[in-house]
Amino acid sequence: MENDTSTTDKKKSEHRHPEKRNRPDTPVLRKPEWIRVKAPTSPEYHETTKLMRNLNLTTVCEEAACPNIGECWKQKHATFMILGATCTRACSFCNVATGIPDKLDPFEAARVAIGVQKLGLKHVVVTSVDRDDLEDGGAQQFVKTINEIRRLSPGTTIEILTPDFKDKQNAIEPIVTARPDVFNHNLETVPRLYPTIRPGSRYFTSLELLNRVKRLDPTIFTKSGIMVGLGESKTEIMQVMDDLRAADVDFLTIGQYLQPTTKHAAVEKFVTPEEFKSLETIARAKGFLMVSASPLTRSSYHADADFEKLKAAREAKLAQGK
Ligand code: SF4
Repeated sequence: MENDTSTTDKKKSEHRHPEKRNRPDTPVLRKPEWIRVKAPTSPEYHETTKLMRNLNLTTVCEEAACPNIGECWKQKHATFMILGATCTRACSFCNVATGIPDKLDPFEAARVAIGVQKLGLKHVVVTSVDRDDLEDGGAQQFVKTINEIRRLSPGTTIEILTPDFKDKQNAIEPIVTARPDVFNHNLETVPRLYPTIRPGSRYFTSLELLNRVKRLDPTIFTKSGIMVGLGESKTEIMQVMDDLRAADVDFLTIGQYLQPTTKHAAVEKFVTPEEFKSLETIARAKGFLMVSASPLTRSSYHADADFEKLKAAREAKLAQGK
C-alpha cells in the first residue's frame, strides 16, 4: 500500500526493476486534479532528508516515491523501512527495488531508534522489504527495532507494517510478543488480481496472518489496506471488507493506486473522492473501528492522528459493552 507511487523516473526504474522490463507499456491515464500534489519545498522536508542521509536510513516515503512526502515530512513524519532497501519479491505495483538483498545490518535497529528520537515522533510506523531469503523472514529485525525504539523513546507508540512471512512458521509470535501497538499487514488488492499484482503472495496467507495476530494478542490493534483503481469491482472490494472483518481486523485503509512507471501495472481507473466516501461508509457499516479512505490514503498517512482515533473508537465500543 505504501508502494503505490507517482514517480515517473523511467531510467531509474529500469535499473531498479530489470525484471519488470518485459511488461508491455500501457497507456497512462491522466491524473485527475484531486490526485495532484505540490513538490516538497519546506525547510522541515529538507531537514528530514538530511537526517535520513546522516543516519543512513531508508524510508518507504522515498523508496515508494510516496505522493504525500511533502506534507508528511513537513511535519517530520517518516515511515522507516528496515531489512535493507532491496526486496526479494517483484510485485507489479511496487516501486521498491527487487534483487538479491544485502546482508542484514546489525546496527539498523539502533539507527532507526535514533531517527525516531531525533524526529520526536509520538507514533512511528516501521515497515520492511520482503526477505524470503532469511530463515525468519526478518522477524527478529522487527523485534530488535521495536525494542530499540522503546528503549530510546518509551512514550512513542509503534506501528509495524510487515510482509506476509509466507512459509516462515515461527515469524509472527516473537513480533507479537514484542507488543507493537498496531500490527499492520496489507492485502493490497482483491484475490482475483493476486496473480498479476502480487504474484509472490497468497491472499489467504495474508488474511491468516492478521487473524493469527489477533488470536495471539487481542489487545494489539490490527490494520490492513488495499489499493483501488487496479480493475477490481465494488463487489470484490466488499468481499475483501467482509474477509477482513471475519479476521477481526480493526482498521482498514483504502487509497488510489498510482502507477510508478510505465513498466508497472497500469491504473485502470481513478476512483473519485465521492466513491471513496461511499466505500468508507460501507466499511464503517461492516464494523471496522477505523476506516481511512481517500485518493491519497496510504497505510501510514496520518497514522499518528488515526491511532488516537482508533484508541478512542475502541474505548467507546467497550463503554457500550460491545
Ligand atoms: S503517507 Fe506514509 S509513506 Fe507516504 S510520505 Fe507519509 S509517512 Fe511516508
